[in-house]
Amino acid sequence: MNALAIFGGKPAFESALHVGRPNVGRRTPLFARLNEALDSRWLSNDGPFVREFEDKIARVAGVKHCVSMANATIALQIVTRALELTGEVIVPAFTFVATAHALEWQGVTPIFCDVDPLTHNIDPSQIEGLVTPRTTGILGVHIWGRPCDIEAVLAVANAHKLKVFFDASHAFGCRYRDRNIGSFGCAEIFSFHATKFINSAEGGAVTTDDDEIARRVRLMKNFGFAGYDDVISVGVNGKMSEISAAIGLTNLESAEEFIQVNRANFRTYARELHGIPGISMLAYNERNSPNYQYVVVEVDVARARINRDQMVRVLHAENVLARKYFYPGVHRMEPYRSRPRPQTAALPETEAVSSRVMVLPTGTSVTGDDIAKVCAVIRCAVSNSSQVAERLSATTQ
Ligand SMILES: *Cc1c(COP(=O)(O)O)cnc(C)c1O
Repeated sequence: MNALAIFGGKPAFESALHVGRPNVGRRTPLFARLNEALDSRWLSNDGPFVREFEDKIARVAGVKHCVSMANATIALQIVTRALELTGEVIVPAFTFVATAHALEWQGVTPIFCDVDPLTHNIDPSQIEGLVTPRTTGILGVHIWGRPCDIEAVLAVANAHKLKVFFDASHAFGCRYRDRNIGSFGCAEIFSFHATKFINSAEGGAVTTDDDEIARRVRLMKNFGFAGYDDVISVGVNGKMSEISAAIGLTNLESAEEFIQVNRANFRTYARELHGIPGISMLAYNERNSPNYQYVVVEVDVARARINRDQMVRVLHAENVLARKYFYPGVHRMEPYRSRPRPQTAALPETEAVSSRVMVLPTGTSVTGDDIAKVCAVIRCAVSNSSQVAERLSATTQ
């Protein structure tokens, strides 16, 4: 116990262990691509790497169209606009804030739906109760890369003539039933941000089988240009650069290796955390070909005798920068928090989930030995919960 840093011991890690440290692919092919882009002086505007990246993403998603983007947030905004959504769109409250902000930025009000405490995904049985005459769509999220209940979401949408699209930022390469994520609803949106499983430093993509949606999205992300000198509608700049596409293409070549490392790390965590009272890990279903991008741990205070916030403080003192994703829930963030809306107060599962979840470091920068040390800290903190709680309450955060 005295070994814990909160009691004055040396931190378990000399340099910080971060959540979401980028996976980095092979440098030789990356540098070759960068040289090619620089030599050709083609750095943006539908260049060869962007086209190749789009082809590869479309293939992974099993769809006709992939439109690359500067990031997933602008992609969500553009799809919201391309689908002509207005009024209100229903979204889960347990997600990254960008899911809701993208709607709000387009003048569409996000209406927050509670989540299933077992899956952390939108609870389809609660969607219907949120539908009003102003509702035009549902934006589902595949949280942690685990597909939401797509069939149930689509059924509610069909009954009320709502458009459906999905924030698949976490779910690149994953499957639902017999189909790839990326092919459901009107469109799906991926993120290739540095912290995501496959990154292009910054980047995103829209995938769809709908020719008209693809056409609109492509137009909107390039200022409305339909050809040289021919602007046919209002647009924005959502373009991915050749540099980003070169990074994305190179990382895609290592996708299998990244998954293998993530899976091995996940299993090491599962083994090392096994049997610690009140500590449980969210499982993945092999049939959905998960990318194991997130190690999601729930702290049950009744059994662990210390709560999630205390555990995170213990870990931070050890230089393990565990994260409280997506605390406190988007409905508790501005501008949504200040809105006088009954449902902002009635999302018990979102609040319960976001008070017990912490995400632990994984990815290719994290070793099995690192994981064993992280888990030893967690085990030690739970075994000595009363002293830990006492110590933490004596020191300010
Ligand atoms: C990362 C993330 C986004 C935003 O992606 P960017 O590419 O950084 O804009 C949106 N939604 C979810 C669920 C995310 O995790």
